[in-house]
Amino acid sequence: MPRTRALRFLVKGIIAILGTAGVCALAAERAPDARAAGTDVPAETRRLEIGGATITVNIAAGRFDLPSERLYAWVTRAGRAVTTYYGGFPVERAEVNVREAPGRGGVSHGFTFFPDSGLLTTRIAVGEHTTEEELADDWMMTHELVHMSFPAMAQEHHWIEEGIATYVEPIGRAQDGQIPVESVWQQLVEGLPKGEPEPGDGGLDHTHTWGRTYWGGALYCLMADVGIRRATKNQMGLEDALRGIVAVGGTMDHDWTIERALGTGDKATGTKVLTELYEKMKNAPAPVDLEQLWKELGVVPDGRTVSFRDDAPLAAIRKAITEPPRARVMPARP
Ligand SMILES: [Zn+2]
Repeated sequence: MPRTRALRFLVKGIIAILGTAGVCALAAERAPDARAAGTDVPAETRRLEIGGATITVNIAAGRFDLPSERLYAWVTRAGRAVTTYYGGFPVERAEVNVREAPGRGGVSHGFTFFPDSGLLTTRIAVGEHTTEEELADDWMMTHELVHMSFPAMAQEHHWIEEGIATYVEPIGRAQDGQIPVESVWQQLVEGLPKGEPEPGDGGLDHTHTWGRTYWGGALYCLMADVGIRRATKNQMGLEDALRGIVAVGGTMDHDWTIERALGTGDKATGTKVLTELYEKMKNAPAPVDLEQLWKELGVVPDGRTVSFRDDAPLAAIRKAITEPPRARVMPARP
């Protein structure tokens, strides 16, 4: 490996470990897969047109039990979920590099970054023995593509990058009909307690544990979604705020301050929900009474699934969160 390339690989490895490039280890706290992060393999390429974007997908051809066609379909589904939530794919061009994880099954590791090529890129490892069912169950591809939709933040705000990806991924997939609505709420009921502050934890800008980063960030997103819907008589939600950020160029290929991102999102909904919630959660632990919130939303935990109560006071808000969004054209990108 030439020295410059070795150095770049090392830097990317460090970035991956620190998490600034969006290392995603939501389901399992895995160390970054060196092979996934850095091995160059001969690839076959296809350009997918999704939601107004061209996504170039490079696949290590002939290295998987499944035909490449199935992998392209998997990336397409993920792109469609993101397109549904945002009303269009958030950037005009992106790249997805599918790496082979030898001897394994399933999607094992992904991260998204902005390389020198100037093209937002997701690298994702897929086990050579991955099955169609594993691709159908996979959340990680969608999670990675959601990362492209929000500006790059300073390290202390990494929680909002992971929180948005964690929160939006199942909702986008449900809105697109890929997973049942119950699955969205079941994941929130199971996952969000991991985002609550533990004794000694500070606010989201100060405690950077796995739970606070992924699920603490998702907790912020759910509170924001409910807050925006309460403030707008359920006419708008978090998706409108996030679309507003994308509409003025707030995507991962741009460095923004968190104040600018949240202020832009608030402007799009005509509220101050994102900014005020950030003020509340950034420095203080700010626990949330989730039991009470589930009651208000009419979400009834029921073993490994959930059921719903439509007579709950915020049932309409719960329904609106996972409803397919109103047909809307995303405003032109600058
Ligand atoms: Zn992530």
